[in-house]
Amino acid sequence: MKPAAFTYHRASSVRGAVDLLTELADDEPKLLAGGQSLVAMMNYRMARPGHLIDLTHVPGLAGIHHADGALRIGALTTHRAVERADLGPDFAVLSAAMRWVGHLPIRTRGTVGGSIAHGDATAEWCLLAVLLDAVVVAEGPGGRREVRAREFFLGPFTTALDPDEVIVEIVFPRPAPRAALTEYADRRGDFAVVAAGVDLGTGEVVLGGVGAVPVLVPDAGTPAEVADGLELRDEAGIPAEYRRGLVRTLVARAREEAARG
Ligand SMILES: Cc1cc2nc3c(=O)[nH]c(=O)nc-3n(C[C@H](O)[C@H](O)[C@H](O)COP(=O)(O)OP(=O)(O)OC[C@H]3O[C@@H](n4cnc5c(N)ncnc54)[C@H](O)[C@@H]3O)c2cc1C
Repeated sequence: MKPAAFTYHRASSVRGAVDLLTELADDEPKLLAGGQSLVAMMNYRMARPGHLIDLTHVPGLAGIHHADGALRIGALTTHRAVERADLGPDFAVLSAAMRWVGHLPIRTRGTVGGSIAHGDATAEWCLLAVLLDAVVVAEGPGGRREVRAREFFLGPFTTALDPDEVIVEIVFPRPAPRAALTEYADRRGDFAVVAAGVDLGTGEVVLGGVGAVPVLVPDAGTPAEVADGLELRDEAGIPAEYRRGLVRTLVARAREEAARG
């Protein structure tokens, strides 16, 4: 499969990328990060951007920094970089969860910002960002703004990001030493059928694969109560009750993992 024709641009700064997004707006420009979602969509002609704006040469967009108890992850940071980083016990959940993201080559190229921008409701980064109440920092023509992850995911592959904005970083504002994420996929490396993240510190649960966006369950009760409280439909060949059973099992499993630390 080959993509439709496009013009390639190499951005050298975030401001430059924003300017290109604005100038080329009539021709469906797209930002390119790791390309692990976008290029596949282009090859299948599900995306036909007239222009690709490559972010990978923008200095300063990759990196992981601790600041005032928060963890700041640059948009171009790869899944693999997070997996290999020693984030300390407060944010170890992020490194541990990376084992669920695709396969090693995908984790080596795919980026945190790309994952958040893509907005797949079962993507580990989307779930982690909602669970840990992260903030998405985006830059557009009017400057930078911050959007809580809990308000960022609006629908299937639809986010609050404007077409002329670039995600700059994701900020995880508070430690989550007793959090864990686990999931079930039909094959190792596939997107999850159902994923469950828990934070024993807040009592919250986040679920993927049960709705159009990550589903946050505050004050979550027992795994059975969480599962029984969901409105599920038979979807994509998967019966609702099968998904419900997975929720029950995965919430319990994630809690065990979080308690072990
Ligand atoms: C076989 C396979 C299995 C996979 N399995 C999983 C999985 O289990 N879990 C999972 O989470 N992901 C999985 N992925 C997807 C992978 O994680 C991607 O890396 C990720 O979804 C997108 O990141 P990217 O850097 O590759 O973004 P790209 O593919 O380059 O871009 C994706 C979208 O985000 C936009 N974008 C990218 N960066 C920015 C930015 N900084 N600001 C604004 N918009 C931006 C692009 O314009 C595009 O619309 C899989 C991919 C493959 C091919």
